[in-house]
Amino acid sequence: MEKFDLIILGGGPAGYLAAERAAQADMNVILFEKRAIGGVCLNEGCIPSKALLNSAKIYEYAAHGEKYGVTATGVAINHKAVITRKNKIVKQLVSGIGMTMKKLKVTIVDKPAVITGKSADCITVVSDGIEYKTSKLLIATGSVPIMPPIPGLSEGLKNGFILTNREILDLDVLPESLVIIGGGVIGLEMASYFNSAGVKVTIIEMLNKIAGPTDAEISDILQKNLKKNGVDFKLSCKVTSIGKDSVTYEENGASSSLQTSKVLISIGRKPFTENIGLESIGVYTERGAIVTDDNMRTNVTGVYAAGDVNGKSMLAHTAYRESEVSVNHMLGKRDIMRYNAVPSVIYTNPEVACIGETEESAKEKGLNFKAVTVSMRMSGRYMAEVEGGNGIAKLIVDEKYKRLIGVHLIGSYASEIIYGAAIMLETEMRIDDIKEVIFPHPTVSEVIREALFEI
Ligand SMILES: Cc1cc2nc3c(=O)[nH]c(=O)nc-3n(C[C@H](O)[C@H](O)[C@H](O)COP(=O)(O)OP(=O)(O)OC[C@H]3O[C@@H](n4cnc5c(N)ncnc54)[C@H](O)[C@@H]3O)c2cc1C
Repeated sequence: MEKFDLIILGGGPAGYLAAERAAQADMNVILFEKRAIGGVCLNEGCIPSKALLNSAKIYEYAAHGEKYGVTATGVAINHKAVITRKNKIVKQLVSGIGMTMKKLKVTIVDKPAVITGKSADCITVVSDGIEYKTSKLLIATGSVPIMPPIPGLSEGLKNGFILTNREILDLDVLPESLVIIGGGVIGLEMASYFNSAGVKVTIIEMLNKIAGPTDAEISDILQKNLKKNGVDFKLSCKVTSIGKDSVTYEENGASSSLQTSKVLISIGRKPFTENIGLESIGVYTERGAIVTDDNMRTNVTGVYAAGDVNGKSMLAHTAYRESEVSVNHMLGKRDIMRYNAVPSVIYTNPEVACIGETEESAKEKGLNFKAVTVSMRMSGRYMAEVEGGNGIAKLIVDEKYKRLIGVHLIGSYASEIIYGAAIMLETEMRIDDIKEVIFPHPTVSEVIREALFEI
């Protein structure tokens, strides 16, 4: 039986980046992945959805090019070709990770593994009947979609009427209509693509707003844009059952039904902690998520948990950073995980990108703050490139310390601009210091600088 310096359960962003960083530091690493290296992010999440959304963006430009003096005829989305291209990108990225692992001499086992016990200096994991020992274990088993107890859900999942993110990103024939249960990030991104592809899309959301904790002013503008493009919204509506070809929901106590060709269930995700042997070594969980400290340590010595499995911020970039913090701690390097400056993006058309406090969360916490909103139309680049756009930049500023505590953007390039705001928040830059930074002109990012002068 071989003993490793580090065993990793799960080969998603948290698992494979931890393997890479640990192997670079000469640790002898073995990684178990039961499905596909790259995890949800590469195979059925971040990357595939962005490939689809980029095709939608190209289609929208081509189909509505007359606004920019460009006309094209016969513009259409060839969904099959979109999926083929998506599969090619996923394959290339997954094989790239495989090559990195090989180069770094990380052992990959493409089977599930279960934790079975521990002694004073050793944790044991079993996969396919073989025992593996290690002094350090990283649990990076990710998350799975939440399945609410709605009558008809399990039958629909079995017969293919209801889809999760996994199946919808592999559909090779477009449905005529699609009901999306859940108006969070995944539901909105899928609505944006399928609506552009000509599918009749309806989002049913239990809350009175879309996009979960996103600043309300931003989510309102996003909803208006999607609605203008053809997406229907049923807010404050609760799905009560799913039939053979319909979804029944309740609105203000009254029941209604919608006929549909397919249903996407996207009401959120939960950490995957079942049947991986946590109880064999006594790892604490809270509401299904592994409890970690700011070094990503669990309560068990030598055992760490990074990524969606700890439920703190279920995003790939958080998973990456948490995996680095875990490995650094294993190596005795000082490093701490902070969650105050984690950007989040919705890659719809238009894009949304946010970081830090929203106006609502700042109010709820009783912070002494000021909110400033400016139109993206202040940017010459935005005016030149987005005909009739209604994007905004909203800044939340701490009144006492005069520093940024939140930035919220809706409009083009938002996803690429937000990292600048992440630096400002992470390094606690004061407003006067940011004002001295030279932003390139003409760029949409200049709206952040403009907004600072409105404070
Ligand atoms: C449709 C969709 C779009 C998304 N888009 C974005 C986005 O644009 N940006 C973003 O930041 N995030 C996005 N996310 C979230 C992102 O995918 C996750 O935050 C990220 O994948 C988490 O990484 P992870 O390594 O923790 O877990 P995962 O990626 O879930 O990987 C965990 C891996 O562990 C494996 N595993 C589980 N148990 C075992 C076991 N016992 N033995 C061996 N292997 C095991 C699983 O098979 C899986 O491959 C999206 C998610 C979805 C569903």
